[in-house]
Formats: sequence, C-alpha cells, structure tokens
Amino acid sequence: MRYFLSCFAVAIVVSLLTLNTASAEAIYQWRLAMSWPEGTPMLHNAAARFARNVEVMSGGRMRIIVDAPGRHKAPLGVFDMVRSGAYEMGHTASYYYKGKDPATTYFTTVPFGMTPTEMNAWYYYGGGLELLNEVYARHNIVAFPAGNTHLQMGGWFRKEVNSLEDLKGLKMRIPGHAGEVVEKVGMKPISIPPGELYTALERGTIDAVEWAGPANDVRMGFYKLAPYYYTGWHEPGAELHVFINKEQYRALPEDLQVMIAISAKEVSLDILSEAFYRNVVAWEEMKKESEINVRTFPDDVLNALKKANDELLNEVAERSPMARKVIESQKAFLDQSKDWSRITDEDYLKLR
Ligand code: CA
Repeated sequence: MRYFLSCFAVAIVVSLLTLNTASAEAIYQWRLAMSWPEGTPMLHNAAARFARNVEVMSGGRMRIIVDAPGRHKAPLGVFDMVRSGAYEMGHTASYYYKGKDPATTYFTTVPFGMTPTEMNAWYYYGGGLELLNEVYARHNIVAFPAGNTHLQMGGWFRKEVNSLEDLKGLKMRIPGHAGEVVEKVGMKPISIPPGELYTALERGTIDAVEWAGPANDVRMGFYKLAPYYYTGWHEPGAELHVFINKEQYRALPEDLQVMIAISAKEVSLDILSEAFYRNVVAWEEMKKESEINVRTFPDDVLNALKKANDELLNEVAERSPMARKVIESQKAFLDQSKDWSRITDEDYLKLR
C-alpha cells in the first residue's frame, strides 16, 4: 500500500510537471509570406534561413512555414497580409509599399544615399530601427531589417550616354522612387514584368534596364543586348525586411521575440555576404562571355539626377510629415558619416 501511495504521489508530480511544461512551452505554428518566387538566389534562401534559425533556436517551439507568391498570389501584398494577420510574418522590401505610406519608401534605399555599412550603422545605432517601427506601428506591423543586397548597378544601356541630352526620351525599366527621378530629367520610366524584359530590350520597347546586380542579371541575359553597363546611383544598398503582425508579436513570450530579432539580424548579414560573393562570381562569368563596357554617368547627368532626387524628396516631405522625419533622419546621419567614410572606405579603395 505504501508502495502504491508513493507511486501515486510520483505520478501526480510527473503530471503536474508535464502540465507546467506544456503551458510554458506553447507551440507556435506561423506562416510567412515572401515577395520572392521560389528558388530566387539570396532572397528565398534568406526567408528559409530566417525560419530555420527561429525553429532551431526555439527547440521547435516556433515553426514558420514559408510561402512563395505561387501560393499566396500577392508578391507585393505582403504588407496587407501581415497587417491584417492573414499571415503572421512576411519577407519583403519596404519600398514596395510607398502607395500605402510614403514614409516606408526610404527604409529600403535612397538614391545617392547610404552605403550598406552606413545603413547598418543608422539602423542599429543611429535610430533607424526605432523609426522603422514608429512608421510600421501605425500599420499594425513590427519590422526588422533582414538583408542588404549591396550596391546596385545603374543599369544596362544599348547606347553610350555622353550627356544629359542622350537621356531625353530614353525608355528605361526603372521602378519606384528612382523611376520618378529619371522622369524629372526627361527619361521615360516603363514598368514591364520581369519575364518580358529581355524581349522588350531586344525589340526596342525599352532602351535600358536596371535590375539588381550581376548575380541576378546574368540569368536575364541583358548584357548580350545592352553592352554599356553603368555604375550605380539609385540603390546604394537596398535593404529587405521581415514584417510581423504586431498583435501576434506582442503576444509571444519574450525569448521568442528575441530569437526573431536575432534571426533577422543574422539573415541581414548573410544576404549582404551572399550578394557580394555571388556578384563577384557572376561578374567574372559575364566578362568572359561578352564584351561589356563599364561606364560612369557623365557629371551633367549625375548632377541633374541629384537635383531631381532632392526635389522629389522635398515634394514627398511636404506631403507627409512622417516621410519628412525619415528623410531628415537619414540625411542627418549621412551628412555626419560622409567625412568618416571618405577618409576610410573611399580613400582605402583608391589606394589599394
Ligand atoms: Ca534594382
């Protein structure tokens, strides 16, 4: 009888312990909508890597299923799907949502703006992360930087650009804020789905195209049709983001919130490293296959683009006080860091 009682007591303790563990270790099964088609180098890897990081770190307490546009059908609808809670999470780029809120535009990149190093310093130490979340809190979203694709090139041109005159009427695929900038200097930005770009360039529907960098451009084959490759000005360090539904995020235990933040940061560094590596390799491959003429835009073109960009930023700041706050924060940090970048990165790269 004593044996039976002690067994009974042990059984009660065990079941209490199990009960305790079960309530402390709720299992979260979440879904993440990414903007990128399945298998896209860097981008799909990043979303999958983020999900895996969280699952492993949490010992399986949080599982994240990654859905591509093939499943959710809305590559540029990640903002709405996460805001409404249809998806708990997303992996996308903030600047796709300038139509929802102009202040979101600049968290990805700004023409003539910060390099990846400067951008990371601004995000993690210069108030950028707080500002990102001030903007996104108004849309029921918590956001983290999650992947910088490094400096993008200025695009592939069929003909050489020797002056501002050569750009007048030129039709170019260049979306978003930069598209509005080139329009101000007389170009015609044209929006064409990625799958039709090669044919459009071949048929002369467009005269120039910007995409990303060699790692992504090599598959598109633009270099075979447009041999003038211009150095970049419009996306000096495009940052991607993880979005999380704010209510769902706030309801998580604190350790899972920290794991999500750490995973986003890890993916951010990982994409930057992968983008740089893949661009190096793809650039070498392209140069072997084809005669590519690398050019920098002439001064009159760059000056006109800079002026147009400043005008456009002022116009947006006039319309949106929140956008003004973001633009001014970035500009202040860029002004502050310019001199340091000049005597370090810039000078060193010249003398190496
Ligand atoms: Ca681009």
